[in-house]
Amino acid sequence: MSLYEQVIQEFARQFSGQPTAVVRAPGRVNLIGEHTDYNDGFVLPMAIDRAAWIALRPRADARVCVYSPYFEQAITFALDDLETYRDGWIEYPRGVAWALTEAGHAITGWDGVLLSDVPVGAGLSSSAAVEMATARAFGVVSGFDWDAPTMAKLGQKVENHWIGVKSGIMDQMISASGRADHALLIDCRSLETQLVPLPAGTVVVVLDTATRRGLVDSAYNERRAQCETAARFFAVPALRDVTLAAFEDRASLLDANTRRRARHVISENERTLRAAEVMRQGDAVLLGQLMNDSHTSLRDDFEVSSDALNTIVDCARREPGCYGARMTGAGFGGCAVALVQAEAAESFASAVSVTYRNSTGLQPNVYVCRATNGAEVIA
Ligand code: ADP
Ligand code: MG
Repeated sequence: MSLYEQVIQEFARQFSGQPTAVVRAPGRVNLIGEHTDYNDGFVLPMAIDRAAWIALRPRADARVCVYSPYFEQAITFALDDLETYRDGWIEYPRGVAWALTEAGHAITGWDGVLLSDVPVGAGLSSSAAVEMATARAFGVVSGFDWDAPTMAKLGQKVENHWIGVKSGIMDQMISASGRADHALLIDCRSLETQLVPLPAGTVVVVLDTATRRGLVDSAYNERRAQCETAARFFAVPALRDVTLAAFEDRASLLDANTRRRARHVISENERTLRAAEVMRQGDAVLLGQLMNDSHTSLRDDFEVSSDALNTIVDCARREPGCYGARMTGAGFGGCAVALVQAEAAESFASAVSVTYRNSTGLQPNVYVCRATNGAEVIA
């Protein structure tokens, strides 16, 4: 049974009767462009065929009741009582209500079931999927227009100011504005976006190492500070403004650590723009090579990879039909992403599961993904 059918069935169980609308918003994976967002650079994520679904029906009062099968819990909150953050999963939908109200929308109540197959905490941004699906739900009930970038910024505000997570715009932007068979090039400075087609006959495979990052906050803050130091050295607002040629001219004057950090960011921006170009030409081989180069740079220059990530990337590249593989996300654990020939996807997935388990003793989670539409009203 599809998630669409399941969420409708669950709605009938929880609230009796039929929902008046069903919405969905996807999770995401970043193909290339890592640690570039806070340097005003470029990222290239795609929306995946795993999503948060909400089946809903308007209520007569100014309250929202959401049932989550994952948490086996129904929680009701009042739309005139959004002053303070509480706790738990409901704060994602509730935070969206808060941000919509802050933005001046007159929102109204609904009953809904929130069902998602984006794994929680696996690096595929289950939280952005919930936020964008909730924003869609409010849009349907309260009748405001859907503008993807506006809603993405609103979702980021929920993460930053309601939940308290320091994160960029990528997750919400791609969940709001993805398109089937396309990735989305995002300029993290201007927030301009461009859809870029995925090479025909390929799939994207997410490889979860089953390791989670430790010490990530301190390492992340240190990297950010090093990038800022480098930008000051080049006398620009952000490393986005330094070309590889300008970097190489003066790089020898930087201390070795700062030099390597800057080289990653500057070369990664160029790789990301180049990746969009070769995708427009349908060149899976070159895209795979750029992903491989990105991994090397993240491993050796930015130093945010890990043994588990390096191992799973090696396992992926050894399989036939793999064009390239790299770590994705902040690093130190979490997921890698591989570009694979569509017809080889299933054998690739099972082979990497075995070879990675044999070398590490860990059981990876493997998700074969296709690029889907961003947040949408289904019915
Ligand atoms: P991720 O990397 O998957 O986004 P986060 O910690 O940012 O991980 O967000 C996960 C949180 O999002 C969950 O703890 C929960 O509060 C909320 N969430 C995700 N999926 C669901 C769901 N199916 N039902 C209810 N809440 C969900
Ligand atoms: Mg999240």
